[in-house]
Amino acid sequence: MISVLRRFVICESPSLEKAAADRCCGVIASEWKKRDVRVERVVKKERGDLLRLTWWPDKSRPQGQLLVLGHYDTVYASGTLAKMPFRVSGGKVYGPGTFDMKAGIVQALFALEALQKSGRSLRKRVVFLWTSDEEIGSEASYKLIKFEAKRSDAVFVLEPAFGPRGLLKTERKGVGEAEIVAHGRASHAGLAPEQGVNAIEELAQQISRIHQWRDLGRGTTVAACLIDGGTRTNVIPERARAVLDLRALRIADMRRLEQRLRALRPTLPGARLEIRGGFSRPPLEGKISAALFTRAKALATQMGFVLSGCSVGGGSDGNFTAALGVPTLDGLGAVGDGAHSAREHVIAGSMPARAALLAALLMNC
Ligand SMILES: [Zn+2]
Repeated sequence: MISVLRRFVICESPSLEKAAADRCCGVIASEWKKRDVRVERVVKKERGDLLRLTWWPDKSRPQGQLLVLGHYDTVYASGTLAKMPFRVSGGKVYGPGTFDMKAGIVQALFALEALQKSGRSLRKRVVFLWTSDEEIGSEASYKLIKFEAKRSDAVFVLEPAFGPRGLLKTERKGVGEAEIVAHGRASHAGLAPEQGVNAIEELAQQISRIHQWRDLGRGTTVAACLIDGGTRTNVIPERARAVLDLRALRIADMRRLEQRLRALRPTLPGARLEIRGGFSRPPLEGKISAALFTRAKALATQMGFVLSGCSVGGGSDGNFTAALGVPTLDGLGAVGDGAHSAREHVIAGSMPARAALLAALLMNC
């Protein structure tokens, strides 16, 4: 497993560099080709190509489909390997994209191999879909993700597990971004302050209002994380802008938050507001993952390990499939730590058990 992971990691695949991502797509495809599956490369113009692998060994018609979902793109630009090389040390495998989430792809590959070697037949066809732009919002791949999810009875997402115990992600917050632009009227701050409408003041009032919407107990947060405005100290500012991070654990809360944003009105006479954006990934609600999680826990117990779940604030492509109402279980990938940082690594010893868990789920769903 480590030598396959090495091949995937030493071929860097930044979301924003198509040529590099395509090379990695080819390396991953060649590993799957060795394993008797149908390999399709879905060509993308601006992003790395998507990889769809279909496995259905029997002659009879499958009674449904299972989707195994993940991404091979990483947040690291080409050249990162020079400072952050692939290495194995103390039972940990380090390198860009090991944990998030190339080890997950390796685990899926070995789960498939285990199923093939077992000779047991499956009731459902299995589609593995590896995308190229999850780290930048999945604009190029979400249509295919949704298409395959709609045809599936369950979706298994091989994003990293959480923490050293490898918790599955049974709930994920929905994630969004909104922009508020306040328009005022410029004027000399000393000679004609009464003629000005201060866009920064307007925006500040809106931000303190928005801050009240936060409900940590329900998992709803809204935070102004970027702000700019004004030109010089003696000019009443004409324009100010804030970018907000939006999160919600429930679809109803997401909708409420979006409505409240749209309903904002200016507080200063003569000011005007422009509001854009909203949620790009809806929440993965606990009820969507519950049945699959119960099954996964039971299978893990049979295999001799304890599996737990958790709720996380970040989104993944599992959020899209869950929002369609398709049962989705996320965080089935690698156990490790340090995603998106120089410490990124996978616990090598955990990989076989996680691959076995996925195989067991595919056999029992
Ligand atoms: Zn990821």
